[in-house]
Amino acid sequence: MERLKQKIVNEGKVLSASVLKVDSFLNHQIDPELMQGIGEEFVSRFKDDGITKILTLESSGIAPSVMTALQLGVPTVFARKRKSLTLIDNLYSAEVYSYTKRESSTISVSMDYIKNDDVVLIIDDFLANGQAAQGLIHMVEQSGATLAGVGIVIEKGFQSGRKIIEEQGIRVESLAVISSLENGKVTFKEDSPR
Ligand code: 5GP
Repeated sequence: MERLKQKIVNEGKVLSASVLKVDSFLNHQIDPELMQGIGEEFVSRFKDDGITKILTLESSGIAPSVMTALQLGVPTVFARKRKSLTLIDNLYSAEVYSYTKRESSTISVSMDYIKNDDVVLIIDDFLANGQAAQGLIHMVEQSGATLAGVGIVIEKGFQSGRKIIEEQGIRVESLAVISSLENGKVTFKEDSPR
């Protein structure tokens, strides 16, 4: 997605050879027009899959998920990272090791919102080593729902996330795939033919 790549080049900050900061449009401030475009792009890739629900992880997955959900006419459910007084019983849960926070947490989703007749699309902001996506996949498995695939806004293609997910036979669609962050520079993988 060319517009997204331009935004990454113009506003992204390479913090190290493995971490990209995109706080100006995705992880802190949000660019709604770009998010709308991201939603359109995910819809164009998954519109024929009969999606009934989008599942993401708070907080940075919510904006791209809601924009996609709006255009598909389905709800978005976000997994919570922290325990809540109002989220107690009947939970799907999974352990997730956070790449950026370097700590594990239990993520959870109420069983009320994902049922075994749902067709779920997982969306997240970044794909690194696949831990967040794996936790979400695990919850879809617990629910008995069908998983249509995983949609990622920015994939770091030099890390192992895609491999881990695809090895389970799950489709991964990323809107921008970074092949390297070496020397403070963002290099993209050539767009794969669709
Ligand atoms: P994974 O679980 O695939 O190892 O890492 C994905 C999660 O870690 C994403 O949900 C995202 O929040 C965070 N993350 C991983 N790498 C980066 C990065 O380079 N930049 C930012 N901003 N977040 C990242």
